[in-house]
Amino acid sequence: MNDRKAYTGIDYFRFAAALLVITIHTSPLAAFSETADFFLTRITARVAVPFFLMATGFFLISQYAYDAGKLYHFLKKTAVLYGISLLLYVPLNIYNGYFSMDHFLPEMLKDLVFDGTMYHLWYLPASMLGAVTAWCIVRKLGIRRGWVVTLLFYAAGLLGDSYYGAASKIPLLKTIYENIFEISDYTRNGIFFAPVFLVMGGMAADEAARKEEISLQRSITGFGISFLLMTAEGMLLHRFGLQRHDSMYLFLLPCMYYLFRMLIFWRGERKELLRTSALLIYILHPAMIVVIRMAAKVTGLQRLLIENSLVHFLGVCVLTVAVSVLAAELSAGWRRSGKQPYIQGKERAWIELDLNNLRHNVEVLQNAVPSGCELMAVMKAEAYGHGMYETAVCVSRMGVKAFAVACIEEGIRLRRFGIEGEILILGYTDSRRAWELRKYDLTQTLIDYEYARLLNKQRRGVKVHVKVDTGMHRLGFGREETERIAHVFSMRNLRVRGIYTHLCAADSLEQEDVRFTEMQIRGFYRLLDTLEQKGVKLPKVHIQSSYGLLNYPELSCDYVRAGIALYGVLSSPHDQTKLRLDLRPVLSLKSRVVLIRKIRKGESVGYGRTFTAERDSRIAVLPVGYADGIPRNLSCGRMEAVIRGQRVPVIGRICMDQMILDITDAQEVSVGDTAALIGRDGGAEERAADAANRSGSISNELLSRLGGRLVRTAACS
Ligand SMILES: *Cc1c(COP(=O)(O)O)cnc(C)c1O
Repeated sequence: MNDRKAYTGIDYFRFAAALLVITIHTSPLAAFSETADFFLTRITARVAVPFFLMATGFFLISQYAYDAGKLYHFLKKTAVLYGISLLLYVPLNIYNGYFSMDHFLPEMLKDLVFDGTMYHLWYLPASMLGAVTAWCIVRKLGIRRGWVVTLLFYAAGLLGDSYYGAASKIPLLKTIYENIFEISDYTRNGIFFAPVFLVMGGMAADEAARKEEISLQRSITGFGISFLLMTAEGMLLHRFGLQRHDSMYLFLLPCMYYLFRMLIFWRGERKELLRTSALLIYILHPAMIVVIRMAAKVTGLQRLLIENSLVHFLGVCVLTVAVSVLAAELSAGWRRSGKQPYIQGKERAWIELDLNNLRHNVEVLQNAVPSGCELMAVMKAEAYGHGMYETAVCVSRMGVKAFAVACIEEGIRLRRFGIEGEILILGYTDSRRAWELRKYDLTQTLIDYEYARLLNKQRRGVKVHVKVDTGMHRLGFGREETERIAHVFSMRNLRVRGIYTHLCAADSLEQEDVRFTEMQIRGFYRLLDTLEQKGVKLPKVHIQSSYGLLNYPELSCDYVRAGIALYGVLSSPHDQTKLRLDLRPVLSLKSRVVLIRKIRKGESVGYGRTFTAERDSRIAVLPVGYADGIPRNLSCGRMEAVIRGQRVPVIGRICMDQMILDITDAQEVSVGDTAALIGRDGGAEERAADAANRSGSISNELLSRLGGRLVRTAACS
């Protein structure tokens, strides 16, 4: 979720961590002090692999990661790398007699899935198994509860690792672990170790996106203390001979938490070369150890190059780093020399979201509502065409905790995206779906008394808001139905969390409309008074949608249900509002010129030949049409596209999938140029409200009808 920002600290530490892994396999201090070497290789260096896992989780796992695309990409990449690494080590395997061992097939299968065919290769299958496990758990349980589950995995692994000496005293545990060790050599391999760190990486990413980082000073202190505790833990376990293996410690968890928080403070340029070389160092160093050993043998320098552990370590480091950096450079050069990559999704027509503007609008609206009143973000109809996922995640990260949707499917989707907090369904849901309302913790609007009774009969304990009809005559209890509304509050299987009404002329400042709206508001409050007199304890109260807030800002409720204002546009271009807020449009609709041609005076363009050139002209084709949601009645010049800051008219009829522009008067338009149909390009802008107005509608309709065929791209800084 964070690939836009360069976390330089993470990239640098990748490199350091790779060198720490080399220490594990070369024991640099062994020739000088056993304790110092234990401290370096069995304690300090144990942060390396968890760090790699967290860095992977940081870019892969998130509360809001619902699209498995990234996971597949990671699995594919890692599987390819694993395949290449396995092949690379085949010669060494042959040399070590790997292929002549007993039970070759089952052993090899076990190695492929868990242990790797070389002592360090376990990491690749473990990171794949761990990623799938972590991803599924987080999808199912959310990131915090998911983390708790992965902690239990870790605890189970810990008892088979550093604490095995203690665990094996209990016969049942001993049997269980002996069975596990039949399948994989250590509990570190497979699924006990990796998932918790992957999830912790994801948590760090979500916190960073929410700007919830803890201070650098606290991170450093936390790291210092937990590292000391981990050292003590390791030394004690070692002293009492409890360790079967030493990759897992209790205090490794807080240690990694603080270490990672420390590193993400360091942002700047992305160090791609460091990233790639760190991975190569990890993969290649065992081979380089062999090369150094052979070189020592050939040159007769065993005493220096092998027996002096420090020189041995340094030799391996220098050689591995040199080979890895060279290989990383080569692969980067090879990738650069490939064809210019096209920007995926931006080849035909797409929606571009400016999430900075969305954030800005959330802030403006939050400041505009009276204190004690919360923003309820209206996400219905694919967030008014903006894309529910991108929008909801962004808004949720800003701390918005209430959402509204039109139907149950939209509510369920929000939950699947990882959205927490209240989700109110504004429309009708079949009462037989009460179990789903409950399952996904959705709040249902009660549209009338009969419906309330039906829903109550389902015995699911569903959360509800009572809707009151104060004059729109769409959904809701009649204003006079006080007895029945009061009765709803006592229904056993309904939990009434809110009561609301909807204004139907709040967008107009005409005297008559204002009078009608005030009548609606007064009637609603009178009903609330009557309910209170009947002993009903009032739940959350809400009245205003966007224009309700903009024109009746003095009302003080518990929620404002903001839709169109959140997206930064007015419904109609000339709307006057009492409150003038600096709201900024979030959505642009763009396409790309795919063809430019010349036509002669007198030639016609498009279906029905509605356009005939009055002069020799240049025309351009955009591959976007009414099937993408552009109103067909904007044909024949009623719409303009913005290319290189110039407005150019649509000519002829808009087709299902294309439209044609007259670019005769425009400067320097060429194939491949982007054209904004809604939004800004250079100095010029086509506003949604204007285009909607010309098509005889409002921006709400225009935006929400933008088709599912469009790709959405989101940009933020
Ligand atoms: C759609 C809707 C809203 C949001 O309206 P905007 O004018 O877009 O803010 C609020 N309340 C109800 C009941 C709605 O149906």
